[in-house]
Amino acid sequence: MPKTINVVEVFSSIQGEGQCVGYRQVFLRLAGCNLECAFCDTPDSRKVLERGYIEMTAGKRDFQIIFNPISISILSEYVNSLLVLPHHSVSLTGGEPLCQAEAIAKLAPLINGRIYLETNGTLPSELSMVLPYIDIISMDIKLPSVTGQDMWQQHREFLRLANTRTVFVKVVVTNKTSTKEFQQAIDLIAAVNHDIPLIIQPVTPIHDCEGATPDMVLSWQEQALTLLSDVRVIPQTHKFIGQL
Ligand code: SF4
Repeated sequence: MPKTINVVEVFSSIQGEGQCVGYRQVFLRLAGCNLECAFCDTPDSRKVLERGYIEMTAGKRDFQIIFNPISISILSEYVNSLLVLPHHSVSLTGGEPLCQAEAIAKLAPLINGRIYLETNGTLPSELSMVLPYIDIISMDIKLPSVTGQDMWQQHREFLRLANTRTVFVKVVVTNKTSTKEFQQAIDLIAAVNHDIPLIIQPVTPIHDCEGATPDMVLSWQEQALTLLSDVRVIPQTHKFIGQL
């Protein structure tokens, strides 16, 4: 079991995406990712940097530098000190947090709060290593038009495992999303459990990734509602209100 972990940043903020939008969370952004999405808004998290940043007081943005890799037990003390202010949960995010699954399995039991995993949903073996410690899973299905690769099999295995916990699925849609790939995503979810909530997240335009039109979004929600019981459209709200 590793004794250290590579961190990008730790801070307290408001969840801006998905089913838990609006809740106060401690965000623990871990370094490393196995994908290269066209709309990635955290490119610096895709690699391990020498320095990471930890907020010392929840919400005060009084960051201190730490050097990677950091001791898991020291990191848990930092996170628990932010939890003195009541938070809904601790969001493990990235990058792709499951790239450090063994370290998460050691860290999570030391945290005094619920664990919320934000994941690209492509690493099922790594999920199985941490599943007992995770309370809520926010799983992305990454469409081929975004990643340039077909991840359906990995997503299928991942969702079957995640369905043993509380899980919702998020699909980011752009003006390049096709009806066919969107249908594959909803077929995949329905085959596991048609009551798993689906959040359709219209992309916040970035690089050459353009937003879907209002008509496209309406039609994807209608398409999903033919198979799934809970389908919502929620954009990235934290960007509207200037939160990290
Ligand atoms: S999975 Fe997340 S961190 Fe990794 S490239 Fe895609 S958007 Fe960026």
